Amino acid sequence: MMITNDLTKEQAETRKDQIENIKYQITLYLNKTDLEYEGNTIINFNYKNTTNRTLRIDFITTNIKSLKVNGHLISNYKKYDYWIYIPVSELNIGPNNIQIDYINKYDNTGSGFHRFVDSEDNEVYIHSDFEPYDAHLLFPCFDQPDLKAKYKLTVTGPKDWQFIHNTEIQTESIDGNFKTIIFKNTELFSTYIFALVVGPHEVWEDSYNNIPLKIYCRKSLAKHLDPKNLFEMTKESFQFLENYFDIPYPYKKYDQIFVPEFNFGAMENVACVTFTEHYIFRSKQLYSEYLSRSNTIFHEMVHMWFGNLVTMKWWNDLWLNESFADYLSYYAMSKGKLFPDAFEFQFSRKEWAYMQDQLSTTHPIVGSAEDTADAFSNFDGISYAKGSAVLKQLTYYIGEDKFRDGIRLYLKKFYENNTVLEDFLMCMSETSGIDMVEWSKKWLETTGVNTLKFNLDKDQCYIEQMPSETNHKIRDHAIMYETYDEKDGKISIVESNKIIISSAKTDVNISSSSKFTLLNAQDHDYVKIHFRDEELNFIYNNLKNINDRFTQRIIWGNLWQMVRDNTLSAIWFLNLVEKYSDIEMDSTVLQEQMLQKTMSIKSFYLINDYRELWSNKLYNLAYKNLEKNQNDQFQISWFNLLLSCAESDTGLNDLKAILNGELVFDNLTIDQEKRWNIVSKLCAYGDSDYENLIITETENDPGDLGDKRAFMCRVSIPDLQMKNQYWEMFTQKKQNHSSKYLTYGMSGFFWYKQNELLSKYVEKFFDDIINIYKNKDVHYSSNFSHILFPSIMNVEEMLNKTELFIDQNDDLPKLCKKSLIENKDHLKRRIKILNSQKQTTTDTDMEVLI
Ligand SMILES: [Zn+2]
Repeated sequence: MMITNDLTKEQAETRKDQIENIKYQITLYLNKTDLEYEGNTIINFNYKNTTNRTLRIDFITTNIKSLKVNGHLISNYKKYDYWIYIPVSELNIGPNNIQIDYINKYDNTGSGFHRFVDSEDNEVYIHSDFEPYDAHLLFPCFDQPDLKAKYKLTVTGPKDWQFIHNTEIQTESIDGNFKTIIFKNTELFSTYIFALVVGPHEVWEDSYNNIPLKIYCRKSLAKHLDPKNLFEMTKESFQFLENYFDIPYPYKKYDQIFVPEFNFGAMENVACVTFTEHYIFRSKQLYSEYLSRSNTIFHEMVHMWFGNLVTMKWWNDLWLNESFADYLSYYAMSKGKLFPDAFEFQFSRKEWAYMQDQLSTTHPIVGSAEDTADAFSNFDGISYAKGSAVLKQLTYYIGEDKFRDGIRLYLKKFYENNTVLEDFLMCMSETSGIDMVEWSKKWLETTGVNTLKFNLDKDQCYIEQMPSETNHKIRDHAIMYETYDEKDGKISIVESNKIIISSAKTDVNISSSSKFTLLNAQDHDYVKIHFRDEELNFIYNNLKNINDRFTQRIIWGNLWQMVRDNTLSAIWFLNLVEKYSDIEMDSTVLQEQMLQKTMSIKSFYLINDYRELWSNKLYNLAYKNLEKNQNDQFQISWFNLLLSCAESDTGLNDLKAILNGELVFDNLTIDQEKRWNIVSKLCAYGDSDYENLIITETENDPGDLGDKRAFMCRVSIPDLQMKNQYWEMFTQKKQNHSSKYLTYGMSGFFWYKQNELLSKYVEKFFDDIINIYKNKDVHYSSNFSHILFPSIMNVEEMLNKTELFIDQNDDLPKLCKKSLIENKDHLKRRIKILNSQKQTTTDTDMEVLI
């Protein structure tokens, strides 16, 4: 059996029975140059001995210098790769302490204790990142969420560094070039939200009431950061959340640190939140990016209550952290001044949930997690986007006030404790007066997304509810509908109501004479809507006259779901984009609902006959619109489409002219990010001058971000010998490069244009994938499997190969298997859509095909 670094639910339960009342005293010695650091940890705890099993301490380290139990050096402990076993004979019933002196290596995976050298100024930055199960990469511990502890941290390091932890500094003493910081004792919390970030960061300060606020980022990126905006969002969020939860912020300060080479968007460490540097915008972004960054700030703040103060007992209830943070962040924003349109973007985020919930690997919101590998895979569209959507549905179902009161009760009742599903249901039942058990069974404990369709039988209107393909489940849906009529070219709402849909066919009292009925108006429900042919015709002819932006988004979003479900032709969708995109007045609808989906259709859902045709058509559409010189939001959106569709000689020459400044569009700044995007594309399409292009941009953009983009460009070059070398790099067991650097490179490997050149990488992928999962951390493996799966190759062939590989290898690491099954599902969906296009290529009436 393969030994992997996992903790099972059962092992966690055993340990929970063995010990209680845990305190860690952690001392670390860091310097700028070494690749290793020294540490000393004293764990104080009460031993209960209810099981008489050895006591497991989770710990990955290079070298244990000494291990003492209750003051005595012992040698009869067992050290394995990932943990230490302490014999029962060494422990007392009651209080114990274990002291471990050790030497450890820094990590370069983004997780654990990650060390980063800024190539622009040679400064060193180190951050911790532990969720779900990596705290034991920094210090020996009982690394599970329901063994909450208090921590006392002392760190010695270079005197010009910042030291940022979950609590404030208690004392600081300088000795030569070093200083020693003793932090105040922490509150009680789980190991995965412990944090230490160090380095010569730039810092900005502000406050909210009595809470000191700080923002940090590395020096070389400080010029791009906008702390004023970030503080403003932070304060708006604090103001809403303290009031909404009716519990003051439970910690003493609030720090937000942007850290290099981070794996997630952000991490909610207690009072010491870390963010990806992608949120430091080096160029003008689309509005949706600013909103999404703000959403992440709100999301992490919700976690201070939901997750940090009250924590799920085990990872199967990850939704108790993530679904709430996801939903309440949008909710809080929608009640504020900065981004009151946040729910429109939650609607877009649901696409992640619909996609994932229709894969055969989906799971209920209340998931299962046998071990920490499952825990990792639960950080997905179900725990976040679906959970969030279902909580929005619950709010609409029982009412906003009752929902809020249930939340308040839950947080007060389980203050500093751990919880399971039943605890939440009990609180919601109490405040709503509705038994939540049945509701939970239908929504939280089953998989799948329903589809609703408005229909007419003579004059009787009814709503069909269709189950998910895999589970035949019908649910209770609280929705709002709107009916529309058209008069003299004007479209107006004639009726709007809240109704509950409970069965497969629900008769409804809606006027049968109206031209168009929109189900799930305002998007309170988690459901897909399929339109009838009459409604599709109405949309085709009248979309521009529907003024409400949210309604427009909902219509486009559901058309997209119909394309994915193969109930609407992708060509029809593209025709609609062609018809309306250049008169669309709202840049967010244009970008998210039209052009982004158009680019996905072009990449995945068009047969070869159509692909080139549409690429050219869309290129011309983008060019024509760029010439209109609309504001920068439009210009960025159209530029993205232009770049994506530049495949002909003319297109590539235009890109080069844009790069050289010979072709200029008003209100469009070709900043460094766009320059790199152009150079990647030119490299991939065989530009003979690639070496000069890359050197010029590297000079324009010194530092690690430029290095990473340059690496991606080099990997993009269509040269088999170079590709072989890079593949070697991606698959090597030991790596000097950081995972992030390699991931940038992976993104340049496959290009549709290069599918013949790269055909041998289908076999190579399957040859290497198992070892990647065996030898690399979960983040790297998951990136490898997603980015380097050769989805540009012939889809039928890829499907056969993937199915065969899964069948022939029964011992696949489980996350590897899950990823391959998901790739297989995506291919099957594509094949269905592509086959339906093949059947209609002879149809001369194709343009209006529905
Ligand atoms: Zn979260």
